[in-house]
Amino acid sequence: MPPFFNMITIGQLLGQATINKKDARYILMSILDMDQTQLLTNLQMVLEPEYVKTFNKMAVCISNKMPLEYVINTAFFMGLTFYVNENVLIPRNDTEILAEAAIKHINTTNALTVLDMCTGSGCVLVSLLHYTEAVGVGVDISPSALDIAKKNAVKNNVGHKASFILSDMFSDIKQKFDLIVSNPPYIPTAHIPTLEHSVKAHEPHMALDGGADGLRFYHTLAKEAANFLEPNGTVFMEIGYDQGEAVKEICLKAGYDVTIKKDYGGHDRVVIAQMP
Ligand code: GLN
Repeated sequence: MPPFFNMITIGQLLGQATINKKDARYILMSILDMDQTQLLTNLQMVLEPEYVKTFNKMAVCISNKMPLEYVINTAFFMGLTFYVNENVLIPRNDTEILAEAAIKHINTTNALTVLDMCTGSGCVLVSLLHYTEAVGVGVDISPSALDIAKKNAVKNNVGHKASFILSDMFSDIKQKFDLIVSNPPYIPTAHIPTLEHSVKAHEPHMALDGGADGLRFYHTLAKEAANFLEPNGTVFMEIGYDQGEAVKEICLKAGYDVTIKKDYGGHDRVVIAQMP
């Protein structure tokens, strides 16, 4: 068949696509390395057959309920762009509450060194380093997550301010920090099968599973963080919407002063624990 029979423009492909139109636009933007304006002002542009093939492959992934972020290996968080794949959690909007609270703390105190425990994609650490003068360390138990976090630090121009340590929580940490941030896994194990299909089928369970009651990592953080904090150091932890009281209790028992911040939905979302 002569090649022109296969010719299809951006506009035609978007018009014919059977997946959600926004997903279709983002997939094309990713394949063509265009922003939305470039895409929408080039609707008459004829697509190379290779691009159409790639688009169709990605559209199949979307139809199979793979989250768009994994299909295009891209997620947006705190106004920055992150590489993601199925080895790391997709950054969540709610986690911006944690990042914003920690950024405000760094910018209004003398805090300069940050540890991000369970860094995953590195989205929290990279945002903190991007928006402040701080330097920091990202820690994760997953080597493939750490590779992604490193890549994201470089991608967002904070590679020189970031280092990464493979460690099961604090076991291989030897320094002290002004600030510890963490968005640890906090879903109770038995709830994982009830999560949305796209989450339980594609996101890493290791990054979700907080043990039988979902609180396993908060116990470790409350018990051990003090050994890795400078005097007056602070811990910022993201929590599940219904875990505020339980995590507050854990931190009070460990001797911290506790403040809770809510998300935009009015739910408890961040616990701030400070050594008195
Ligand atoms: N810190 C990463 C995030 O906020 C990963 C969190 C996790 O793996 N539980 O997305």
